[in-house]
Amino acid sequence: MTSIGENISNLKLKLPSAVKLVAVSKTKPADDIIEAYNTGQRCFGENRVQELLNKKDLLPVDIEWHLIGHLQSNKVKYIVPFITMIQSIDSYKLLVTVNSEALKINRVIDCLLQIHIATEETKFGFSMKELCENLQSCNISNLRNIRIYGVMGMATFTSDTNQVKKEFRYLRDCFQSLKESYFKSESYFKEISMGMSGDYELAVQEGSTMVRIGSLIFGERNL
Ligand SMILES: *Cc1c(COP(=O)(O)O)cnc(C)c1O
Repeated sequence: MTSIGENISNLKLKLPSAVKLVAVSKTKPADDIIEAYNTGQRCFGENRVQELLNKKDLLPVDIEWHLIGHLQSNKVKYIVPFITMIQSIDSYKLLVTVNSEALKINRVIDCLLQIHIATEETKFGFSMKELCENLQSCNISNLRNIRIYGVMGMATFTSDTNQVKKEFRYLRDCFQSLKESYFKSESYFKEISMGMSGDYELAVQEGSTMVRIGSLIFGERNL
């Protein structure tokens, strides 16, 4: 078996340098995260608030934490003091809550809009229709304590690479049309977070700027 460090260097060789690697450490112990940290990796993704809170106190303060899982509004206040990016904004209500909690402590939180691109119904995210309705009716530039950097999506879990490709291409099209219609003058609106252990190569081909990779780095999860 290869080590966490070797897994990261192998991945780095395959990823274009402009693509950011988010090491998804959910379910894995702090020791594993330290092993990755010691190779220079600073950006880590977690999907549960409680697990993230437990781990972060055991780990170096210069880690950039990304939340990548569904976030309940009542838990926002626990993560705004330290989170680097919330990739899983899946409702307008959540965006408003993040803004108001961030305002209380005078932070600006980087966010991605999660878009539903998979055929499975269980995956969270906005539909494009719903998202555009929200962006039209609500003036998000009034939300001064959030900054929307782009979009995030998860493809269907399938071995049908054409299907996965199609979904990633759709996410890139969504990104481009949102950029044109609502974020033209926001130069920071440039991220497309797509690609996981099983499909990151396809995602990179389709224009991913950020991949979220867990099992290829830390090994399979048994939870
Ligand atoms: C778990 C998870 C990942 C990483 O999955 P792997 O297949 O282990 O690479 C990426 N994104 C999200 C949103 C996740 O929940």
